[in-house]
Amino acid sequence: MRDALLAWYDTHRRDLPWRHTHDPWAVWVSEVMLQQTRVESVIGYWQRFLARFPTPAALAAAPLDDLLALWAGLGYYARARHLHRAAQQVVERHGGEIPNDPEAFGALAGVGRYTCGAVLSIAFGRALPVVDGNVERVLCRVDRIEEDPRAPAVSRRLWAQAAALADGERPGDLNQALMELGATVCTPRAPRCLLCPIRSACGGADVAERLPLKAKRAARRTEHRVAALVRDARGVWLARRPDAGLLAGLWELPSADGLDPAALGLFVTGEARIVEHAFTHRHWTLHVYPAEGVPAGAVHVPYGALADVALCGPALKALRAFDVPGAPRRRGAGR
Ligand code: SF4
Repeated sequence: MRDALLAWYDTHRRDLPWRHTHDPWAVWVSEVMLQQTRVESVIGYWQRFLARFPTPAALAAAPLDDLLALWAGLGYYARARHLHRAAQQVVERHGGEIPNDPEAFGALAGVGRYTCGAVLSIAFGRALPVVDGNVERVLCRVDRIEEDPRAPAVSRRLWAQAAALADGERPGDLNQALMELGATVCTPRAPRCLLCPIRSACGGADVAERLPLKAKRAARRTEHRVAALVRDARGVWLARRPDAGLLAGLWELPSADGLDPAALGLFVTGEARIVEHAFTHRHWTLHVYPAEGVPAGAVHVPYGALADVALCGPALKALRAFDVPGAPRRRGAGR
C-alpha cells in the first residue's frame, strides 16, 4: 500500500502552494487553515498570511486583532487565537525556531496529535501518523471497519494503522497521499474505486458508500436574537463580542438575546430584516432592526474601515442585508 500510494501521489497530487515548501511555519499555517476548510478557500488566505506574518516571531509581535482581521472569512476563530498564542510560545520557549520534536511541538497551544503529525512529517520528515476525516474514511473502508470510527477503540486502531503506514521513507508524502486519496478518489459519496491505487488492498470497496459509519449528530438548537443597525452618513456602530465563547473577540451589530427589540435600548425606526446563520451546534435567527441612538459599549466604525474589522459571519450578513457600503464581499467569519 505504501508504494502504491506514493507512486500515485507523485503523479496525481494537486499542485498546491504549500506543497512547494518544507518551511515548518508555512506548513503549520496551511495545516491549521485546512482544518474544517476547503482547499480552494485556503490558498489566498495562506498567501496573504505568510506575506504579512512570514515567521512565528512576526505573528507573535502582532496584535491579535490584526490576525483576526486577516482571518475573517475562514471561520473557526479559535484556530487563529491558538496559533497566535503558539507563535508567542515558540518565541518564548524556542527562540523563534519551531521545534523538531513531537513533545515540544505538541505542547504548543492548539497543537493536537493531527497537527503535530502533519507538520513534523511534512516539514521534517519524521515518521509520525495523521488521522483526519479523509484518512479515517480511507482506512475504515480499506479495513472494512463497520463501527463508529470515533469510538475510542476504533480510533486507536485507526491511529495504529496510520502509524504503520507512516513508518518508512517519505512519511510526509505518505500522509499527504492518504489525505489526498480521501479528498479526491475515496470521497464520501461516489468513491472512484476503479481509479484507486490501493483497490487490490481494499476490503470495503463494495460497501464504501456506507462507510465510515456515522454517529448520530445532535440537532442544532435555534436561538432568536435581536440586533440593531445604527448608522449615519459616515459609518455604523459595532460592538465587540466577549473574549471567550462563541465568536469570541469578533465584531457584531449591537444585539441581545430574545425577540424583543426593546432589549436593545435604542429607538427602532423600521421593520426587522431576518438573517439566518448556522453554527455547528446551534442556529441563529437574527432580527435586525434599523435604529437610532448610541448603543452601549459599541464604537463607531467608518464605512471605509469595515473591510479591516474582524466581523463575525452574522454581522456581515446583516450589513449586506441592509446594503451597507463597505461591507466586505468575502464570506463571514465564525461558525
Ligand atoms: S477502493 Fe474505493 S473504497 Fe477502497 S480505498 Fe479505494 S476508493 Fe476507497
